[in-house]
Amino acid sequence: MSNSRRAAHANRYRTGYLRSRQWFARRDRWFREHGSLRCAGCDREATRSQVELHHLSYEGVHYANGGWSAQEAHDDLWPMHPACHELLHRIIDKDPVLARHRNRQQASEAARRLIRTRFGVGGTHEQR
Ligand SMILES: [Zn+2]
Ligand SMILES: [Zn+2]
Repeated sequence: MSNSRRAAHANRYRTGYLRSRQWFARRDRWFREHGSLRCAGCDREATRSQVELHHLSYEGVHYANGGWSAQEAHDDLWPMHPACHELLHRIIDKDPVLARHRNRQQASEAARRLIRTRFGVGGTHEQR
């Protein structure tokens, strides 16, 4: 299994699932259920229109009978500024250990620690 965005299965999610109405509905529900937002990368406050949702896990996503099923747990999704999200994926993609030898959640958390060090965000309060 690979967390790299270059991996074929990742492309399938990006071009298929992430453009599906099932994902749009799941995303809407995630934002509705979530109050104030902070970017999971830089930890700054953000509004819905400023963030994307990063998947910590695709375990809740299934494809069957010609359609997607979007059952991500609430905590499987991180709100992130597009730039912070891009940085997170760049860190994972260029690190062979994170890209291949950690599960997606572990890779994401390790990359987030690097981003927060870069932004000078203290690790004293864990968000969600
Ligand atoms: Zn951010
Ligand atoms: Zn992502």
